Amino acid sequence: MMRQYELVERVKRYNPSTDEALLNRAYVYAMMAHGNQKRASGDLFFGHPLEVAAILTDLKLDDATIAAAVLHDTVEDTQATLEEITKSFGPQIGALVDGLTKIKRLDLVSKRAAQGENFRKLLLAVADDVRVLLVKLADRLHNMRTLGFMPPEKRKRIAEETLDIYAPLAGRMGIQEMREELEDLAFQNLDPEAYEAISRHLREVTAKAEKLVEEIEHDLTAKLKAQGIEAEVTGRQKRPYSIWRKMERKSVSFEQLSDIFGFRVIVGTIDECYRALGVVHTTWPMVPGRYKDYISTPKQNDYRSIHTTVIGPGRQRVELQIRTRDMDEIAEYGIAAHALYKEGVNDNSRLAKESRAYQWLRRTIDLLAEGDNPEEFLEHTKLELFHDQVFCFTPKGRLIALPRGATPIDFAYAVHTDVGNTAVGCKINGRMSPLLTELQNGDEVEIVRSEGQTPPAAWESLVVTGKARASIRRATRAAVRRQYTGLGHQILERAFERAGRLFSDEKLKGSLPRLARASIEDVLAAVGRGEMFSGDVVRAVYPDYKDERRAISAEAAGQADGKSPEQMQRGIPIRGLNSDMPIRFAPEGGAVPGDRIVGILTPGEGVTIYPIQSASLAAFDNEPDRWIDVRWDFEVHDRQRFPARIKLQSINEPGSLAQITQVIADHDGNIDNVSMKRRTQDFTDLTIDLAVWDLKHLNAIIAELRAKRVVSRVDRVNG
Ligand code: MN
Repeated sequence: MMRQYELVERVKRYNPSTDEALLNRAYVYAMMAHGNQKRASGDLFFGHPLEVAAILTDLKLDDATIAAAVLHDTVEDTQATLEEITKSFGPQIGALVDGLTKIKRLDLVSKRAAQGENFRKLLLAVADDVRVLLVKLADRLHNMRTLGFMPPEKRKRIAEETLDIYAPLAGRMGIQEMREELEDLAFQNLDPEAYEAISRHLREVTAKAEKLVEEIEHDLTAKLKAQGIEAEVTGRQKRPYSIWRKMERKSVSFEQLSDIFGFRVIVGTIDECYRALGVVHTTWPMVPGRYKDYISTPKQNDYRSIHTTVIGPGRQRVELQIRTRDMDEIAEYGIAAHALYKEGVNDNSRLAKESRAYQWLRRTIDLLAEGDNPEEFLEHTKLELFHDQVFCFTPKGRLIALPRGATPIDFAYAVHTDVGNTAVGCKINGRMSPLLTELQNGDEVEIVRSEGQTPPAAWESLVVTGKARASIRRATRAAVRRQYTGLGHQILERAFERAGRLFSDEKLKGSLPRLARASIEDVLAAVGRGEMFSGDVVRAVYPDYKDERRAISAEAAGQADGKSPEQMQRGIPIRGLNSDMPIRFAPEGGAVPGDRIVGILTPGEGVTIYPIQSASLAAFDNEPDRWIDVRWDFEVHDRQRFPARIKLQSINEPGSLAQITQVIADHDGNIDNVSMKRRTQDFTDLTIDLAVWDLKHLNAIIAELRAKRVVSRVDRVNG
């Protein structure tokens, strides 16, 4: 295992001004945190974060990244907390470790290979700092190097994921070296036989061609030198995976694959690149169609190089890449190259040279590259890719992509319409949260459901996805219809009973043509909405029925004391405003439990509840069909308030209003609205809308108000 001083030495080699104390503290902290934890190989776990850090020192990364690498598994795997790390190592390292912890939790998600593309986006979105991704790649690389200790199933999954997500990511970030190694390790685990076969052949060819490589290196160096070009020529063998891919792509056998050698020609300037190319092309015949100039037209990830293939000595096809040292650095290290500790860290021109890489980032990333040193460059490079989207997942690891601003309600509908319709609450990352929370990348959302629930209509304007909006509209419409059919059913049952006739769906069905309705449900809804009167339905089912119904006029209802208890029970139960029926209370004054009440059916609106003494009822005297028997029905435990209006006359003096509202508050009354009108110099008229429990409660408040000196009279308004 790497010693403490070795780690520091590695960093010091490229960054002499490294914060040694910081690295030492991170080392000790992680070592203590991981304690005796073991890896699958049986080695101490702590060796792993150290190796990850070592890989990153090869990329010459800054102190914060190295420290974060050493700490990267502490929050998820040990007792260490993010708060503690932030406190000990500062917010920057804290944020890096946080990003790594989040990504680690996402590993669960990637089990579903089909979600590769989404997962890659998620990864980029969660890691809002390039350095998080660099540590993650190094972490993956070390895990791949030690994959042999895992059970075969796990090995296959991790290898697939590496090929699917991490290797391409390394490639996109321009770290070709790492991409190739990841690919090879994955290939080795996924198809050991093919890997072995190719490697064996490669060894054989290399044995034969060893001289050839040296010959070309020597030859070319000499020829370039003769033209005044100082060049470094290195030959290397291609990797098994890239050969295998080529074999697959071109359906050729290994024997037919000739260009398994690649040479890299590193020169000083761009001018020399083209001059070197001239030398190559005049020395050996070039293979047509293989010349590519990525210097004049760089790749998206800022890769610049000239590619060509020639027929070299021994008729061997040889691939050549010609580029400058700077270009080579970017080709090898990609994004990481921008963090290199070079002589002259504050050299602005270096950043200017690298502006192509910036541009690539800037196109996809909201880049804040104001800093003038490489460290700051990375720090400010927030990977805000896909910032119009958030990626969340279900407890089972299904990934749900949503537009930014989406709420758990949107999430629920994205999972399934039923889940949305029955959502009553949610847990975000294991914590109960409001359904209107804005979701963040990587959130795990668990929807709490309750069957038989209807989404509140108000949600429609609070969600951001079209699917949720449409579903809510559909569900509320269906719920409203259900309410009306329920009410219609209640009304009809009583109408038939009063008429002394049998009410059944069968009977009703036979009368549908006469009622000009398509279904029983339609009839019930029409009755509930007041668009069809119950008497008409009775007559349609029993054409011989003569309407002998008497109106429940105010006068008749006033004699309700004479009714038997059964009769009293027959009214449609009224539970208050949140009932499952379309009920409203008298617009002027309301009604409270304890009041004797009647219902008036209003077409298109449902039932309005009036206290029996309400003067407004006189208006309906000539429409007996609109009168509905109702009764209070509520349980003490689901207490709710009901609307009532009172009128007061108060003496005009400072503080009188305060005294009045105080009395109401002291007696547990809610004031919904107050309007005032000064009547004379000495008196003011007040109209107060209250919400009270019942008649007793209302009367108690009225009595207390009457006892106040500033109140000259109080009356209840009954509409
Ligand atoms: Mn790890």
